[in-house]
Amino acid sequence: MKVIYNSKLFRLPLLRNYAAIVLGRRCYVKASHTSPRLLRHEQIHQEQMDRVGVFNFYRIYLQDYVINLLRYRNHDQAYRMIPFEQEAYARESEDRPFFT
Ligand SMILES: [Zn+2]
Repeated sequence: MKVIYNSKLFRLPLLRNYAAIVLGRRCYVKASHTSPRLLRHEQIHQEQMDRVGVFNFYRIYLQDYVINLLRYRNHDQAYRMIPFEQEAYARESEDRPFFT
């Protein structure tokens, strides 16, 4: 996974409030928010994409978010309850090397 800092992507309204995002084999990170824990979190999303395929990852992720949003009527809770996010948050503190 290649890490790219301070991409112009974060100027997009949809991404403005995010610290990092994985797109394909690249991880875009706001340098001001970076940490080993954040990079591990994004690496876990990369592993999830490898597990189910990139297209399926985004399809399942978005589907779970929409279902959660209808259920909880709250963006933060809908986001936190996405199974891919729950796995990434649960495993982000694992002590393992980070590869770029
Ligand atoms: Zn995440």
